[in-house]
Amino acid sequence: MTRIAFIGLGNMGGPMAANLVKAGHAVAGFDLVPALLEAAEATGVKPASDISQAVSGAEVVVTMLPQGRHVLAAWTDILGAIPSGTLVIDCSTIDVASAREAHDMARTAGCPSLDAPVSGGTSGAAAGTLTFMAGGTPESFARAKPVLEAMGRKIVHCGEAGAGQAAKICNNMILGISMIGVCEAFALGEKLGLSHQALFDVASTSSGQCWSINTYCPVPGPVPASPANNDYKPGFAAALMLKDLRLSQEAALATGASTPLGAEAAQLFTLFEKQGNGGRDFSAIIEMLRG
Ligand code: NAD
Repeated sequence: MTRIAFIGLGNMGGPMAANLVKAGHAVAGFDLVPALLEAAEATGVKPASDISQAVSGAEVVVTMLPQGRHVLAAWTDILGAIPSGTLVIDCSTIDVASAREAHDMARTAGCPSLDAPVSGGTSGAAAGTLTFMAGGTPESFARAKPVLEAMGRKIVHCGEAGAGQAAKICNNMILGISMIGVCEAFALGEKLGLSHQALFDVASTSSGQCWSINTYCPVPGPVPASPANNDYKPGFAAALMLKDLRLSQEAALATGASTPLGAEAAQLFTLFEKQGNGGRDFSAIIEMLRG
């Protein structure tokens, strides 16, 4: 049993904290939204009135917050309230620069730290089957692994500080680009009179295969569990895909990497969001691409 503080009990953090409780850990939680604190209490999380109360006595602190600025603000409060040696883990998806800044703050406070963003969405968070991609020292990773295993199925150490965020935004840039490619192919197939099932049967077993077609096909029919069969209810909301594509483009700009398809994908998802689709599943972009 480990004493864990969990900061940010939203769509992802709520079920992740609940899984830590299920695994036998003592979890104190805090969120700015009182209703989320009440929901977490119902799953066995001890509600706290602020960050310093939540982290009091904790051996490990986990944050699951929207963006880099929220993480840096929360870590400032956390690191001001915990003794040196307490492990701090951020599971949010944020920019690599903020992740590295958070690690620097922790190092100055004498606390081991890990960036450990996740893949798997809200269903993976609820089922405890998330993939964690972690950045930090081997010692921090070894300490964090048993805690992360209570929330996920696959835990990968990607390298030093920020490497988890780097892996996450590279992976999601592939996803954004590949989904647009698959949508364009289905839209072209429709114009050519090809049935969805015929294109799926060929491409899902040929060189066009990828997660965006095999597991998450953007048209109804071939993959019954994909959001296309449920009026594009997310799933993975287009606004979150846009956030990750923007992070990839910030990173490309900062490092001088050439990512022309990533840039195009970010522009197309920006347009899609402007048309009022941010809350729909990202695979619904096929409707815009049909023209
Ligand atoms: P969310 O908005 O549902 O939850 C974030 C929570 O943080 C909110 O409840 C908010 O009140 C709380 N918060 C903000 N500042 C706070 C503070 N100072 N102290 C305490 N609580 C604070 O978002 P989410 O969907 O849970 O996503 C969290 C992170 O996980 C994001 O970075 C997101 O990109 C990433 N992510 C989300 C998904 C997904 O499918 N939802 C999948 C993978 C990764």
